[in-house]
Amino acid sequence: MVTINTVFWTQISSFVAFVFAVFALYRLLVDQKDATIQSLKENISYLKDQLADAKQQSPDVLAERLAKRTKMLEDELARLSDDKSATEAEINAKEAELASARGEAEALTRKVLHARELLREYQCPHCGSPLVERAYHSESVEYQGREIDVDHDWSTFECGLEIVDGLEREGCRVATSLAAQNFNLHG
Ligand SMILES: [Zn+2]
Repeated sequence: MVTINTVFWTQISSFVAFVFAVFALYRLLVDQKDATIQSLKENISYLKDQLADAKQQSPDVLAERLAKRTKMLEDELARLSDDKSATEAEINAKEAELASARGEAEALTRKVLHARELLREYQCPHCGSPLVERAYHSESVEYQGREIDVDHDWSTFECGLEIVDGLEREGCRVATSLAAQNFNLHG
């Protein structure tokens, strides 16, 4: 038999359960938000580290550091040469250090030049615009009664240059407009 009392307590307890459920949900959301913020923070600091690392590793920084070291060693060597009390062994050691720093600088220069050489293949030879797409395909053709494969390659660059099998099918717009400007200036 349902009394007013029972109805009242049922309502109270379902309300309390509702409040607890809302509170639990709220806690869950807060925790999730904290976790998301934490992982974002971690990501950002990771990216910052990576960026700092990349900056440290860039050829410019390496070259600058090497140039500084070479200069410092040269100065030290000059000072040791002037210093009458410096032993020959000390001077020789400094000279060896200097030679190794120079060797490193030369190796770095070679690497940079090599990288530039590799990059050239991915740039317009006229204006340096980057490559947009490169495609290869081969077709079978009959030649003197035999079937042979002929390879084709096709490259397009941002400036509009199109190279098909080593021949320019579309010109470089940047180079063309520069040439037109020069013609107008001097013509
Ligand atoms: Zn171009």
